Amino acid sequence: MSTTSIESHQTKDGLFAQVHATNHEQVVFCNDNATGLKAIIAIHNTVLGPGLGGTRMWNYATEAEALTDVLRLSRGMTYKAAISGLNLGGAKAVIIGDANKHKSEALMRKFGRFVENLNGKYITAEDVGTTTKDMEYVNMSTDSVVGLPESMGGGGDPSPVTAYGTYMGMKASAQKAYGSDSLKGKKVAIQGIGKVGMHLVELIKKDGGIVYVSDINEASLKHAAHEYGATVVEGDEIYGLDVDIFAPCALGAILNTETINALKCDIIAGAANNQLASEDEHGTLIHNRGILYAPDFLINAGGLINVYSEYIGYNRENALRDTEKIYDTTLSIYALAADRNIHTQKAATVIAEQRIDAILGVQSTY
Ligand code: NAD
Repeated sequence: MSTTSIESHQTKDGLFAQVHATNHEQVVFCNDNATGLKAIIAIHNTVLGPGLGGTRMWNYATEAEALTDVLRLSRGMTYKAAISGLNLGGAKAVIIGDANKHKSEALMRKFGRFVENLNGKYITAEDVGTTTKDMEYVNMSTDSVVGLPESMGGGGDPSPVTAYGTYMGMKASAQKAYGSDSLKGKKVAIQGIGKVGMHLVELIKKDGGIVYVSDINEASLKHAAHEYGATVVEGDEIYGLDVDIFAPCALGAILNTETINALKCDIIAGAANNQLASEDEHGTLIHNRGILYAPDFLINAGGLINVYSEYIGYNRENALRDTEKIYDTTLSIYALAADRNIHTQKAATVIAEQRIDAILGVQSTY
């Protein structure tokens, strides 16, 4: 029998190297030729509870891109649950394919069977490219699913609650930067006015803010302009706008050296997941530019808080009340960052990790 050490089997850029680098517990590849299902479920950390995270359906250019995305997203869910005080771990799933072309009832039900096989270690929900209807199909194969329609006892679409939490984080940021949390007269640029972004437009308008929007969907832009009087801007122009607040609410990794240097805002506070292309490098650059960054996984946690409420017995009022706490947590993260002279994403990460480590300690005895 060979006595080769485990290390000698590892390659620097191999599959396990990525899983090891992100410290994931388990990664499951799901394949079904009949329905065309190709999915990856990544379970990052289950110290605080079962890993909960939505299923994203996206037409990834390569399988490697899908894996990188699911590993980044599931790790983010661990931090989001931890900082929000929820008894949940972090996980996420991606289905490779075009949501408009490749999705079917059979595919979603098959995916549900793979979720069921994890015996409650992973709980799924909707995400970009999936809907509450898809979760109904998943629910035909497993109970490990949240984000179900209200008619089925669920909390419905979590996006309005996500928008509300993001709004709370934005107001706390205004409090820190301007000494008042009112958005009256403040100019806010929102990139992406989908399920979350459009609700955010409404909340900011109600507060007296002046809203600028960009999107690749013409119908959404028309709606925001007609319904809320938002000013439409073209594509990348959104980065260089002379505004008070920039709210990324489309896709992740949009804050890089080029875009950060173009920004003229005082605050970045948006709902998109994993906004920083490189957490430390770009968190530091934002800090050095004197821009206040509201950690994404903290202020976009409203949707997770809402689906967690569904998991323990849905109550909308409780979910909204818990989401409001994002305001105070944001302020405490800013205080810690200032105290230690670290960037705000780092401060939020420190707090999340402290909670996970503390609970791991609790579990160390039988
Ligand atoms: P969505 O798909 O409904 O909206 C995304 C919007 O961004 C769409 O209108 C799309 O056309 C637009 N978009 C795509 N590329 C763009 C680009 N290059 N420039 C401008 N606009 C662009 O998704 P959503 O549910 O509103 O989520 C938005 C973001 O918030 C995502 O990053 C998501 O992961 C994150 N998030 C959502 C929730 C939730 O409850 N829905 C919770 C937490 C985090």
